[in-house]
Amino acid sequence: MNILVINAGSSSLKYQLYDMDDESVLASGRVERIGMDSSILTHEVEGRPEVREVSEILEHTTAVRKVLDMLTHRKFGVLKAIDEIQAVGHRIVHGGESFHESVLIDENVKLEIKRLFDLAPLHNPAHMMGILAVEANLPDVPQAVVFDTAFHQTMPKSSYLYAIPMVLYKKHKIRRYGFHGTSHDYVSKKAAQFLNKPLSELKIVSCHIGNGASCTAILGGKSFDTSMGMTPLEGLMMGTRSGDLDPAIVPYTINKEDLTLNEVNSMLNKHSGLMAISGISSDMREIVQAMEEGNESAALAFDMYTYRIRKYIGAYAAAMNGIDAILFTAGVGENSAPLRKRVCEGLTFLGVELDDERNAVRSGETRLITKDGSMVDVLVVPTNEELLIARDTFRLIQEPAQ
Ligand code: AMP
Repeated sequence: MNILVINAGSSSLKYQLYDMDDESVLASGRVERIGMDSSILTHEVEGRPEVREVSEILEHTTAVRKVLDMLTHRKFGVLKAIDEIQAVGHRIVHGGESFHESVLIDENVKLEIKRLFDLAPLHNPAHMMGILAVEANLPDVPQAVVFDTAFHQTMPKSSYLYAIPMVLYKKHKIRRYGFHGTSHDYVSKKAAQFLNKPLSELKIVSCHIGNGASCTAILGGKSFDTSMGMTPLEGLMMGTRSGDLDPAIVPYTINKEDLTLNEVNSMLNKHSGLMAISGISSDMREIVQAMEEGNESAALAFDMYTYRIRKYIGAYAAAMNGIDAILFTAGVGENSAPLRKRVCEGLTFLGVELDDERNAVRSGETRLITKDGSMVDVLVVPTNEELLIARDTFRLIQEPAQ
């Protein structure tokens, strides 16, 4: 059983083809610069050289056709025919309050995703283009959608409501939704397996620290609170995003700097975070290197970034009245030993005893980085959102129709 996982952006489309018999990746790749001249398709199959094809791809339907052509290519492909793809799973950023779990696509689901365009104007319309493009190329193949927000739909009202007039929630659904849900879900399940403990009995803080970053309090396997909000701007300091700030700063800056609302929005999303404080980069590798070379701005950016993660872990330990495990995942969380060390240094009051040697190990596997006997287990868990999308899609197409 082969399942194609698609993550469509406005000018890009990433794909992975899974063989669900053993959950192996048969091929993966991406199409970039859709709608611009010289679009690039990059296609990878383990053990073979990477293939790069430059052509004109004006919209997503052509991008999907090119991907299908590549997957069935006589020399570079891995399938004999297109009908060896039994289902397609899509990543969708925003499912609003409508979607608590992954679903198979039908006309109603498409309508609902369209209704949510307002909440994720940069993402959901692009995902819809991906869905329609697959539909045009593979009209008889079932498609499923997996939402970044769905995992967080278990949050109680006290976690997801903002203390603003209720009419804004009732009329416009202004509330915390949270993101990276597929990742938090995947790593918490993986951690419970690794620790050989039932997920339903664990209090976990999962830290997804990549370009975007969020912490989630996971109580008994369910999201109880999360640091991202109505949009992915709230919470932790990120590569180029500010994270938490006093909302009064927005009108104040508009007045003082004679900026428009859009300009301030863009400043908070694209010109803040690590980039703004360090003045060097939004990439944690470059920040750590500059810090080691004595750059004070980089050191300040690192201090602020790690301090906020620690604050959220402390807050969520209080929110859940205790904590059994802390998980680090995504680009920075999986790879930056100095970041994990700095965050954990201030958590000894919780009973965290980091093991420096274990923390320094580089590996693509789930691993424990605390000492044996530490009251709280800290784990590095490589995330795999695509695999979870493939698994959900696989499960959905096997369930009998409702
Ligand atoms: P993601 O959004 O999960 O793909 O993470 C991407 C980010 O991971 C990049 O912006 C890098 O800053 C970060 N990253 C990747 N490798 C390392 C590393 N070895 N050390 C620190 N940060 C890393």
